[in-house]
Amino acid sequence: MDRVLSAELAGAWRFELDPEVEQRVADAIERAERLPLLDRTVRRVLELTEDDDSTIGELVSVLESDPTLTANILRYANSAFVGRPVRAKTIRQAVTMVGRRATRQLCLEAVTFRFFESAPGNGRASLGQLHIHSATVAGVAAAAARVTGTPGEVPHLAGLLHDCGKLVMPMAFGADELDQLATDFPGGSDRAAAERERFGIDHAQAGALLAAASGVDDEVVASIAMHHGGRRGIAVPSREIACVQLANGLVTTFFGAETDHTLLDLAIDRLELAPEALDQLAESLTPATPGGAPAVEGGLSSRVAELERLAGTDELTGLANRRRWMATVRGALRQGVTGEVLLCDIDLFKQINDSQGHATGDLVLCEVGRVLARHGIAGRIGGDEFALWIPREGGAPVAPEAIVADVERAFAGDPLMSVTVSIGAIEVDGDDLAEAIEGADVALYAAKAAGRRCARRAQARAA
Ligand code: GH3
Ligand code: MG
Repeated sequence: MDRVLSAELAGAWRFELDPEVEQRVADAIERAERLPLLDRTVRRVLELTEDDDSTIGELVSVLESDPTLTANILRYANSAFVGRPVRAKTIRQAVTMVGRRATRQLCLEAVTFRFFESAPGNGRASLGQLHIHSATVAGVAAAAARVTGTPGEVPHLAGLLHDCGKLVMPMAFGADELDQLATDFPGGSDRAAAERERFGIDHAQAGALLAAASGVDDEVVASIAMHHGGRRGIAVPSREIACVQLANGLVTTFFGAETDHTLLDLAIDRLELAPEALDQLAESLTPATPGGAPAVEGGLSSRVAELERLAGTDELTGLANRRRWMATVRGALRQGVTGEVLLCDIDLFKQINDSQGHATGDLVLCEVGRVLARHGIAGRIGGDEFALWIPREGGAPVAPEAIVADVERAFAGDPLMSVTVSIGAIEVDGDDLAEAIEGADVALYAAKAAGRRCARRAQARAA
């Protein structure tokens, strides 16, 4: 599925946009201030920190040529916000103390922090928090990159800028509209989905447009666009993006807001992050908290423990949740077992909830899970989405179409309700499960597009 991944990274998120909507946002961006990353001094600092032959002296003289930037960096570096304040009086001291690489991060953080701090709010629900949230996510994304051996520059910058679209959305669609939406949906993928429904674009995509217009690299732009997992909320196209998604999820949890567990699990999975590493990241968060104390009771380690507990079983259906299901299948693949992965999504499940009530919807989820579990190792990996692993251990494989029919049969006795599923299937013989799931997801989408209540197979992978 390399084609799918690279398409997403290359800007497939952009093709999804309605040209009229994109134009409306582009007009708002025209009126907005650009992100300060293309400022001459900042650009020169980035160049020098990338050039191994440059000296600290050169870096210092570039910074000293811009007194406002220097003041910003010192103010930021010495603020309580930075975990270990640098305590420098001059820019030379600061650069010498933290080194060239860290100066790059410090410089980017300082200019973005200042920019977001003075920016107009992004909905009363989160007014004034954008600069703190952004710098915190950037720090955790960089730490996540470090502990997982992922190059850290894209995660750090994308972490800093991931929510910049929240500045653009009110300009494009009206402050009151966005205030209302931010109150109804304070954050996470629910907010992104509500924005897409209402405006045809979400703040992740709008932010990517602003970043692109500000001259930010394509990889960072794609990371901003995908930080809520894209259109379906479950895409993790690269390890760098996984670092941003993980950081955003952890920071959101830390401040006591509802986190998108599915995406968080997926990001953890993509990075193959061990529980100890998760703890380490959780601890790295503490000093960056303004005032030093977490905004929620119990501290982050107990919240991470809660995540770990949740990481096993889906409470409603009793099936494995995404993370445990992935671990189980990965274990089988590692032992050389081949087989098939099916993604099954209930058709028009929202209508069932709306017409029969949420409690009935819950029963339907349990029943669908029970039927699927007859055919293989089933997991509930999202709201109404299940995954099924059917190992090929001799015998004829069950056709996905037969599973579609089996589910339908299970509800056939109920005159008030018909329940069907759509399935995307893919054969897995390597060990890249995340890639296989992306492929099955594309096939599932094709099944939905073909009218639902059917199965589609992923096309053979590109060589
Ligand atoms: P589609 O055929 O395109 O999949 O249409 P759909 O209506 O099923 O759309 P979608 O898959 O996006 O909807 C999933 C719905 O599942 C939205 C959400 O309200 C509902 N849902 C998610 N989790 C739960 C749950 O735990 N219980 C109940 N009852 N509903 C849930
Ligand atoms: Mg559905």
